[in-house]
Amino acid sequence: MKTLAALEVEGRRVLVRVDFNVPLKDGAVADDTRIRAALPTLEELRRRGAALILVSHLGRPRDREPQLSLRPVADRLAELLGTPVQLAPGVVGEEVAELARELKPGEVLLLENVRYEPGETKNDPALADALAHLADAYVNDAFGAAHRAHASTEGVARRLPHAAGLLLEREVTTLTRIVQQPERPLVAIIGGAKVTDKIAVIGRFLEIADAILIGGAMCFPFFKAQGHEVGDSLCEEAGIEPARRALEQAAKGGGARLELPNDLVLGDRFAAEAGRRELDGVDVPAGWMGLDVGPRTAERYAAEIAKAGTVFWNGPMGAFELAPFAAGTRAVAEAVAQAPGTTVVGGGDSAAAITQFGLADRVTHLSTGGGASLELLEGRQLPGVEALA
Ligand code: ADP
Ligand code: MG
Repeated sequence: MKTLAALEVEGRRVLVRVDFNVPLKDGAVADDTRIRAALPTLEELRRRGAALILVSHLGRPRDREPQLSLRPVADRLAELLGTPVQLAPGVVGEEVAELARELKPGEVLLLENVRYEPGETKNDPALADALAHLADAYVNDAFGAAHRAHASTEGVARRLPHAAGLLLEREVTTLTRIVQQPERPLVAIIGGAKVTDKIAVIGRFLEIADAILIGGAMCFPFFKAQGHEVGDSLCEEAGIEPARRALEQAAKGGGARLELPNDLVLGDRFAAEAGRRELDGVDVPAGWMGLDVGPRTAERYAAEIAKAGTVFWNGPMGAFELAPFAAGTRAVAEAVAQAPGTTVVGGGDSAAAITQFGLADRVTHLSTGGGASLELLEGRQLPGVEALA
């Protein structure tokens, strides 16, 4: 992977792929975390005398919906950089090319939502050519989009001198270290809702980790595979068979210990006002759903986390958005924050949880790319990263 330090940028126009796919509310940026995360790369490039052409997607436009314009992002970025940010009238085309040609060192032009171009997600060579023609060099700092071979992440990288941005480089280095040379014990905490999204990464951790701690709705396909009652719990049907195979693999020994909750917090519906009871055990009665891990499980998991040399956490331990069911996720977040080892948190909701508890700055690394971080840990090659070789 080529580094930013080795790329010649002075007096050049540099096309920077950023991940400005931020939540919007009432036409403004509701959470600017992703914009802030790109600032170190953008500031370094400006300091080194580059003119910046920024490219990002926002949401999934079907057409050129004006509500998915990057206008609010341009405004917020201008405030954060303390310099004007011009928004281009489109992604490519003569008018945009003219604006790019006129850019002076230090100036910033933001292209419109790159998914306004249907060729983006198809990695269309014509779009990659047109993007490449705007600039003299390419930097990719959008780790969250690196698992997709799109025109702005893969195609254009093959057409220009290129480098990884500082954020993307840190993501790849930190996550690669977890699988290649972790401080031991390596403890993976996997929660959230969908087993099928995360079963591949559980499979990898069964091979390389010392312990896997399962929480969230993730645990119910495992319980069902073991013959327990799950009541009305969210239990992904398609996850039961993969969960059974993971249990079998773990039972063979030689790999990671696979730990499941031994107590739960139940609700009679998915709501903050729901009836609530604690269950010492995991057989969920009819009319109830498991919405959090119980206090004994939280304590057990916290003890594992405290002893770990490396912790990777993806997926909350329960429905943490509902205050009565947040305690398990909070206990794990606090244990991760206090852990002496290297701690890495990935996944949109896990990041939201640790931020909500005010602990985000207490972890070694908060990954900005959920899907991309899982694919990298699974051992898959990310096309956006491969193209920066
Ligand atoms: P991440 O974004 O960190 O990868 P996921 O998207 O996989 O995490 O899962 C987060 C979602 O899972 C949250 O919305 C949370 O409410 C939900 N969830 C976790 N545990 C449960 C549960 N026991 N029952 C229902 N929903 C749950
Ligand atoms: Mg999520």
